[in-house]
Amino acid sequence: MSVIASSAHTDTGRRRRRNEDAFVCEPPLFAVADGMGGAQAGEVASRLAADSVREAKLGDLPSPEQTVELIREANRRVYAYSSENASTRGMGTTMTVALVEGTVVTIGHVGDSRAYLLREDQLTQLTQDHSLVAELVRSGRLSPKEAESHPRRSVITRALGTESDVEVDVFSIRAQNGDLFLLCSDGLTSMVSDEKIAQLLVAARADLDGAGEKLVAAANQAGGEDNITVVLFELEAGEPETEEETEQKLDDAKTLTEADAVPALKLAMQNSHGHRSRRATLIALALAFFVAIVGLGVFTVSTAHFIGAEPDGRVAIYQGLPFDLPGDVHLYRPVRVSARLYAAQLTLSERRRFFNNDLHSYGDTTRELSRLEGAVYP
Ligand code: CA
Repeated sequence: MSVIASSAHTDTGRRRRRNEDAFVCEPPLFAVADGMGGAQAGEVASRLAADSVREAKLGDLPSPEQTVELIREANRRVYAYSSENASTRGMGTTMTVALVEGTVVTIGHVGDSRAYLLREDQLTQLTQDHSLVAELVRSGRLSPKEAESHPRRSVITRALGTESDVEVDVFSIRAQNGDLFLLCSDGLTSMVSDEKIAQLLVAARADLDGAGEKLVAAANQAGGEDNITVVLFELEAGEPETEEETEQKLDDAKTLTEADAVPALKLAMQNSHGHRSRRATLIALALAFFVAIVGLGVFTVSTAHFIGAEPDGRVAIYQGLPFDLPGDVHLYRPVRVSARLYAAQLTLSERRRFFNNDLHSYGDTTRELSRLEGAVYP
């Protein structure tokens, strides 16, 4: 199996001033990095990580170990740099790597950039997002639809460079003739649906450069709210694999996307089949309960505050409850947005502690936010 075509595009998008994405497109090695941090730190982080992967000498290690080592080395470089340079302290980046070796494509992954496989016109998401909302969706506490507009959708739970070592997801796929792989940053996937990505790729795959341009254009047409990076590569002919292996690989990949689509709990009104008097009592009880809940709700929503992050990643204090109701009704609103503290600048333990939906008073959340800002910008 060999890489017969590859193409990479990156674009600042329509809303950001800088492009904090970086990529590697040097067969047999491909990668996408999406940097985060204050000032220009995001750019530094993603560039350092991409350079580290690009410059790596591929050794004799088996592909999975090799891929993990590439990413861990990139992590060490970003972490070392930020430890020595106060202006980039706490910066981080995502990293999704693909290494082609013979008939096997190995994917290594940290963060919320993604790898997809287009095989026989079916698009499958191969990686799982390491993001707060993806975790909530996987555990059934949020629907995929709710995740799209969640105030903390840009919070990632794993990043390169924020700690001295990093846990890497790694897996291998046995490639088939005609497989088309896509690595991309969330500037594409937060703007363009998987269905639309699949349509564009199927229609334009004969010209990989054109396909990449079309994906970027689609993200910009949808608003271009973030930097957009796409890396495409296509594989051609090699030894065919056994049917069993193919099935297993596809099953594994499909399980991933199905797990991502756990439906949210829905409140349903059920018909009562009881007597009329019993029904009247139930209705009266339900009304009383409803009035009590509304009263409690108004009180709670006005006094409760929680910490989250705005779509651009800046840490914010929200008033209200961390829930969305059907019909895009939010039970919260931002009351203070940090000028320069980004979610990605927090350590994993800080993110776990502060982005946990716990409710506090405005005073408490303000003090915590000031303390965090002081820790990152002493
Ligand atoms: Ca991004």
